[in-house]
Order: sequence, then C-alpha cells, then structure tokens
Amino acid sequence: MKTFWFVLLISLLCFFVPVVARASEKLKVVATNSIVEDWVRNVAGDLVDLTVLVGPNSDVHTFEPTPLDNVLLSKADIVFEIGLGLEHWMDKLFAASQSRAKRVALTSGVIEQPLTILRLGREHHQDMDPHVWHNVHYVIGMVKRLSRTLKNQDPANAQIYEKNTQMYLAQLQELDSWILRATSQISKAQRQLVTNHDSLGYFCERYQFVLVGAAFDSATTEAEDPSARDMAQLIAKIKKTGVHAVFAENIQNSKVITSLAKEANIELAPSLYTDALGSKGSPAETYIKMIRYNVQTIVSMLKT
Ligand SMILES: [Zn+2]
Repeated sequence: MKTFWFVLLISLLCFFVPVVARASEKLKVVATNSIVEDWVRNVAGDLVDLTVLVGPNSDVHTFEPTPLDNVLLSKADIVFEIGLGLEHWMDKLFAASQSRAKRVALTSGVIEQPLTILRLGREHHQDMDPHVWHNVHYVIGMVKRLSRTLKNQDPANAQIYEKNTQMYLAQLQELDSWILRATSQISKAQRQLVTNHDSLGYFCERYQFVLVGAAFDSATTEAEDPSARDMAQLIAKIKKTGVHAVFAENIQNSKVITSLAKEANIELAPSLYTDALGSKGSPAETYIKMIRYNVQTIVSMLKT
C-alpha cells in the first residue's frame, strides 16, 4: 500500500511540476536596440522576459558584441531586429551563439521600397537606408508584425497582446497625425535638413522635408571624418539652399557637425535622438517621446 501512495505521489509530481514550471516561464525576447525594445514593451508588457543588445544613447552602427550578448542570444526564444542591414553584426553573433531563437526582421514584408543611403545629399551606393523608425506610418506596420509574432509564439496570452497592440497603435496613429500638423508650421522653403549622419531620409519622405545633406553616411558612423573636399561641398550646398540650422545627434560626438555649423555660419540646433532612445528621465525615454522631442526641436528651429 505504501508503494502505491509513493508511486501516485511521484506521478502527480511528474505531471504538475513541469506544467507549473512551463506556466511561469516567460518567452525570452531580445531586442536589438532601445527603440525596438520600447515597441516590444508596449505590446508585451511584463509577459515576456525582455533584454536589449544596444541600449539607450548607444550607437548600433559601431556596436561591438560582448560574450554576454552571446549568452543572451543563446537563451532567447525570439530576436526582434530592424533589418535592412542595420544590425550588420547580427549574422555572425547569432551563428556564434548557436541560438535557436526565431529571428524576426521587422521591416521584412512591411517596407517594400527602402531608400538607399545618401552621402552629402547625393546617391552614394546601393546600400539600403535602415532608419525606417523616423516614419511613424512604417512603425505602425512593424508593430503589427511584432504583435503577430508574439501572439503566434505565445497563444495563451494572445488576447492581452492584442489589447496592448490596439492601444499602442492608436497612440502611434495620433503621433503621425500630430507630426503632420506640427510640421505644417514650417514654410516650404524652410523644410530642409542637414544632420550629422544620414538618418532622417524616411522622416523627410513621409513629412515632406528635403534632406540637403549629412556629414556621415547612414551605413556607418565610424567612418573617418569627412574629407575637406566633401565638407566644402556640403557647406557650399548649405549656403546655396539657405538652410537655417544643422542638427547634431544623441549617439555621436558632435565635433564634425559643430565645425560644419561654424564654417557654414548657421545655427547648431540641439541634438536630435536619431538611432537610440535617451536614458530614463530624458525627453526621449520612449519612442513616442523621442519622435515628439525631435519634431518639436525641428519645428522650433525652422519655423519662421
Ligand atoms: Zn544611423
């Protein structure tokens, strides 16, 4: 009889313990940068165990993975990335980690005609511009993609993901409309931007600005400083087009853009948050706040 109870107890334990363990185990999600991390947080809340590779104020172009990133990937269930070559270090890192995670490039199937990168306002080569998050309309598509993936991978919580997604999409829709309204205060002649690196192509496309030029191209911010000839060309272009101000960025040292503003004799605007969120407590601690801050800065510098 004793043996019977013992066997029954063991059987019950074998049945329930894995169920309990599985139920409390959250999906392990890795986001490649702080912007993607914020989107996942809005859709998933605390339902997933979320980590980020390239955090706030850090440059995704010059990121150098550490052994810890390798470990994070090896344990992940899903990796959300932007794609279009932004995370140029990911293939190698992913292979080295022997991760079995589902890799999801959020731009894939959402952005059908990516821009090519520009340098100093001219077509540089055939590389694609990955800075799609500056067009909120595209972000709406990417968040839907992200949400579908989470619902498929974690069907037990699908309803919660769906509810969160609908709430976040409404906020993004409102943000997109607000940008169109806010930028309408800038005259057509003043809708011209010069930035440190070529990160605002999609912003210009959606909200009808002209990208006059950038000191660095978008595929790499670690490139050596622009040549004297390139700088002279950009300065000539700034003078010819009557650009009001140039914008520095949160992810980079602004030495080059500072000297550009000085030499072209135009104003150096406050830094925009381009490729990464700001730290907690900064005006760009979330994606929505980051875009609002950028647009307010652009409007205050360029409206006449
Ligand atoms: Zn960039």
